[in-house]
Amino acid sequence: MDFKTIIKNKPIIIAGNCAIESEEILYKTAISVKKSGATILRGGAFKPRTNPNNFQGLGLPALKMLYEVGKEVSLPTVTEVIDTRDVDIVATYADILQIGSRNMYNYILIKEAAKTGKPILFKRGLSATLNEWKLISNYIINEGNNNIIFCERGIRTYETATRNTLDLSIVPLLKQQVNFPVIVDPSHGTGNASLVIPMAQAGIACGADGLMIEVHCKPEIALCDGDQSLKLNEFELLMKNVKKIYKSLYGSVEI
Ligand code: PEP
Ligand code: MN
Repeated sequence: MDFKTIIKNKPIIIAGNCAIESEEILYKTAISVKKSGATILRGGAFKPRTNPNNFQGLGLPALKMLYEVGKEVSLPTVTEVIDTRDVDIVATYADILQIGSRNMYNYILIKEAAKTGKPILFKRGLSATLNEWKLISNYIINEGNNNIIFCERGIRTYETATRNTLDLSIVPLLKQQVNFPVIVDPSHGTGNASLVIPMAQAGIACGADGLMIEVHCKPEIALCDGDQSLKLNEFELLMKNVKKIYKSLYGSVEI
């Protein structure tokens, strides 16, 4: 699917499991988020975990599940690529390649991902400045790939009460400087499901073109990021509120 079609419906709402655990869980999540208004399905196949003993993702089988479920629910898909050796296979199965926060400085990986011509979901580095984030996005553009979605996902500060500090002021500032969609990820931005709805609302209110939200049909059994994953009914509520805010700002929603 081409980039224009993928981002046609506004706001751009990426939702789904942090990590793909089974086709059943992914499908249950996907069918519900689609009904609530999600426009892109997410699911991690290769998980960049801080602790090497934690669940690392199912790899290729997960890519196949994402492809199948995306097709079944008619949603384009996004998944993270963390290794240059996986770029081609990820590009075979997913519509958008995600460069995660930990790899924002991995120029080789970024170039290889960009070369596929697939849209790139480019997450802000854990402690990247706006200028670094913007400059490094030129590695994508220089490969002739002009299909980028920037994603603010929180940065590391002295504050430890939240997983990261969601830097919403960067959203209108980045939008003044680049001509690409900018979205907000309040899931990784806060690490706390109870903060996701308020910060998603704030993200849309400050001018973001969309959101990335982790959702799970049973967060209490999630193998990754259950604490920050919304239940299906919570995501439905988030969407109701977000649509209202988006409509009040721009006159209409197209989802
Ligand atoms: C993710 O979105 O799955 C993820 C790992 O996020 P981040 O790279 O922002 O930590
Ligand atoms: Mn996650």
